[in-house]
Amino acid sequence: MTDTWNGRYWDLPWSLVDGCTPCSPGCDHCWSAGIAHRFYREGEPGHCMGILTDDNGRFNGDIITHPERLSIPLKRRKPTVYAVWNDLFHEAVPDDFIDQVFNEIGFHAIHYTFLILSKRPQRMAEYFKRLQTVASHPRNPFPNVWSGLTVCNQQEADEKMPVFLQVPGKKFLSIEPMLGPMDLTDLGPVKENDAHGWSCLWDTPLRSRIDAVILGGETGPGARPMHPDWVRSVRDQCTVSNIPFFFKEWGKHRPGLKDLWGVDYERRLKLMPDRYEIMNAGRLLDGRTHDELPWVKS
Ligand code: SF4
Repeated sequence: MTDTWNGRYWDLPWSLVDGCTPCSPGCDHCWSAGIAHRFYREGEPGHCMGILTDDNGRFNGDIITHPERLSIPLKRRKPTVYAVWNDLFHEAVPDDFIDQVFNEIGFHAIHYTFLILSKRPQRMAEYFKRLQTVASHPRNPFPNVWSGLTVCNQQEADEKMPVFLQVPGKKFLSIEPMLGPMDLTDLGPVKENDAHGWSCLWDTPLRSRIDAVILGGETGPGARPMHPDWVRSVRDQCTVSNIPFFFKEWGKHRPGLKDLWGVDYERRLKLMPDRYEIMNAGRLLDGRTHDELPWVKS
């Protein structure tokens, strides 16, 4: 069972793609360039040294796929929820490689669960649409796949959700880092890519569109704050629509500095830096955690 105390909604990462390029305001403080540069400096075996970052540590735009890691899930015996990193639907990831990933997921690793998060719903929707026409992929939609869209504000949701909703199968929304208030109930009609093009309109309730919502604030240097009312609003929208809601963390900026027992936050933080930050202040919303994950079986 996935251990969510630290805000993780998956068990293990499945790192198939190194590198990524920004495509959203939420990417402003992305860690992928930093990770690529760290591996570059440390000379991690299997990483192509010097390819992912320039001499100043800036990501240089090269994307590297790792076919040698495709069989990793099969090495685990117990049920595992894998989060696929980085953006599998980045423009530079070849279709052939994505085909290999879904062959693995759909035929060999069918007993594991995969969360596939992207900020590029156009390619994701087009890929799954193409799969539907391929006879060798009878599992599409894949019963063990949850497709996720990451957005950071209303504008991004308005632009990307109509396309994302065309992806078949189970879907979740990841609002990370949350950078503004969001109304998920007003996303407009779903555009469906039917035989005649992007023309068919459906207006369906939120519940039938999205199966879960994950929400979190920004972490790390330069993190932007998240207003508690933005979080409450999305939580309440999920409650009304009966959608599982998982509150990952406040991020670097936490509202209110008292913990469950009324003890000063800063004092506690000095006593138990890492664990306290996440467990007792970092994930509480109105005095409790919100840990609903439909893919986690208790
Ligand atoms: S899509 Fe994700 S991994 Fe890629 S640049 Fe943006 S935040 Fe980083």
